[in-house]
Amino acid sequence: MPEGHTLHRLAAQINTVFAGHLWRVSSPQGRFSAGAERLDGQVPQHAEAWGKHLFVHLGPAVWQVHLGLYGAFSFRGDADFAAEATIGAPRAAAVTFEPAYDDGGWLIPEPPKGAVRARVSGRHGWADLRGPTTCAVLDLAEYQAVIGRLGPDPLRQGPPGQDMPSQETPAGLPGQGLRGRTEADLRGAFLHNLTRRRISIAAALMDQAVIAGVGNIYRAESLFLERLDPHTPSNQVAPERASALWDRLTEQLRDGVAEGRIRTVRTRGSRRHWVYKHQGTPCKRCGAVIEAAELVGRRLYWCPGCQRD
Ligand SMILES: [Zn+2]
Repeated sequence: MPEGHTLHRLAAQINTVFAGHLWRVSSPQGRFSAGAERLDGQVPQHAEAWGKHLFVHLGPAVWQVHLGLYGAFSFRGDADFAAEATIGAPRAAAVTFEPAYDDGGWLIPEPPKGAVRARVSGRHGWADLRGPTTCAVLDLAEYQAVIGRLGPDPLRQGPPGQDMPSQETPAGLPGQGLRGRTEADLRGAFLHNLTRRRISIAAALMDQAVIAGVGNIYRAESLFLERLDPHTPSNQVAPERASALWDRLTEQLRDGVAEGRIRTVRTRGSRRHWVYKHQGTPCKRCGAVIEAAELVGRRLYWCPGCQRD
């Protein structure tokens, strides 16, 4: 499943290619026809990510997308449409095409292929959304209810010393008041959420109400690097270690946004992860055999040698 860094990249790309310009929206597959009608012919003002959710603001309407396990956006356009080809679950690369334009000067999109839940088109390109878990139009109250259930997202804080992230909602747009929070606020919320739960720290990291945006890979790798036993109850993780875990996750998610993939082993070589999917092989740090077990429906990976407490 795409982790939070993917959604932040997606929001940034939508801002780059669509925000501030009129767009056309349709649902070639038909399952999002009513929603598409509400978004069609509007001007998307701003896209933002919170954890694994994407929100695109269009006045009082908010388009919400959760990619889930299989969802992805694919972007196509002419030379003026600077976009990464796909964001989300892996998809086959598209072949090149010859751009053609309608009488109004808009690029004519290719006919949709497969089950396209939503297609959004601008003058110079379009994006097709396939396979999302959620694709809905919310009003502001519904939007606030969704984000009210989400824990702090480490990517929604500015760099050290700065309170506001560069990609945040410009002043005056809906939701602004909910986001003027400092790094200390977000970290504090994470620590507070941990003290209120007795589930294991490994389970807590996957709970989007505790921290938003962390998925299976960042969970395994951050706990390994912080030498935390994944089975430790959340409320027994010492505050300084919980704080270090927050910093680690922040760093990893930021690297993910910058690089477009998850790589936690920073030394040269082909190995990208320390423990994720390396069960049964020796730990590169201590030599103990890496273990794996099911935990709340997802596979957990850890090193019993390094992660003892
Ligand atoms: Zn180890």
